[in-house]
Amino acid sequence: MDVTKIREDFPILEREVYGKPLIYLDNGATTQKPRAVVESIVDEYYSVNSNVHRGVHFLSQRATELHENSRESVRNFINAASSREIIFTRGTTKAINLLAFCMGEACMKEGDEVIISTMEHHSNIVPWQLLETRKGIRLKVIPMNDRGELLMDEYRNLITDRTRLVSVTHVSNVLGTINPVKEIINIAHQAGIPVLLDGAQAVPHLQVDVRDLDVDFYTFSAHKVYGPTGIGVLYGKEAWLDRLPPYQGGGEMIQKVTFEKTTFNELPYKFEAGTPDYIGTTAFAKAIDYITAIGMDKIAAHEHTLTEYATRRFKEIEGLRIYGEAPHKSSIISFLVAGIHHFDMGTLLDRLGIAVRTGHHCAQPLMQRLGIEGTVRASFGVYNTLQEIDALVAWIDRVRKMF
Ligand code: PMP
Repeated sequence: MDVTKIREDFPILEREVYGKPLIYLDNGATTQKPRAVVESIVDEYYSVNSNVHRGVHFLSQRATELHENSRESVRNFINAASSREIIFTRGTTKAINLLAFCMGEACMKEGDEVIISTMEHHSNIVPWQLLETRKGIRLKVIPMNDRGELLMDEYRNLITDRTRLVSVTHVSNVLGTINPVKEIINIAHQAGIPVLLDGAQAVPHLQVDVRDLDVDFYTFSAHKVYGPTGIGVLYGKEAWLDRLPPYQGGGEMIQKVTFEKTTFNELPYKFEAGTPDYIGTTAFAKAIDYITAIGMDKIAAHEHTLTEYATRRFKEIEGLRIYGEAPHKSSIISFLVAGIHHFDMGTLLDRLGIAVRTGHHCAQPLMQRLGIEGTVRASFGVYNTLQEIDALVAWIDRVRKMF
């Protein structure tokens, strides 16, 4: 993998901040976009733009073709059985809210239970809490050990005859832990319970195969996979999606409307009310083409090298503690340096041109479990280099000495 060449595809990486070369290590929040993705947006607006699906004219048909081809690209990317199982949403958050609403309506009543884990992003906590208020369901939480691994025996014990769904993150956005999702799914399925995986931090780094996982629902966001903002995916097994009622009402999602009665469209349109972001879906397909051409296995190997190297170098820094030390980890490292507030570290690194994230990372319950307010988080992507990690390590050490 030629990282120098890859970097040339990302114009933003050439810029400076405060007169220093940008070192972008906030890929967990969002990734930068290659030229092919940005150019696709401009090209489609300039040469194809027209609303999709109902138009008989040339542009509308062409735009529809691009949009539906993108659905097929996503299907192929995660190896879903059918493009009917690919629902386009605004992002992971919208996808989980959609599912929480529809599952709540179709399959949950007072006293039913949903299992999540300690390391969930707020977007896989709050939608279920809204359902607690609306439907009287109960949330149960899988605990973890100090390395940041879920306690599987405790998980088994949480399952009861009232459990209606297990909803956990594939990869933690704070700890980097890659959860044993196949085992989690197996255990749930043995009890006849469906599983939703939040794949926001997994899809950019791992080859995800929903059929091999046998997962019932899977969500992710295009903007974390080198694609545009405003596009996400809810994958669902067709049999499940067929059972669920629509989420929102409007155009696209109907078959026939009269004032007396409305019938709903087939999958996936039943869940896609209103004009979709068809420009965004085309650009997302370009992002998928881009990373697929490099090879997900090569990306994973490169990021693994970066993470191993950074972990080793971080351990040389006096007073630095890493949060998340599971043996099976993705390219995210959260840390704190003794006596230095995460916000001060982030602000000073920023002045040196290094973009890292600081704070609770939308995982406040996890912070409470760790007994801290927040961390500094460095997260690596396809274009990051060992030299950038050397710079990060040198600057962290310099900040440490300043304190
Ligand atoms: N889940 C996880 C694990 C995440 O890291 C994020 C993004 N930080 C989300 C969900 C939410 O994604 P989005 O903001 O794109 O909806």
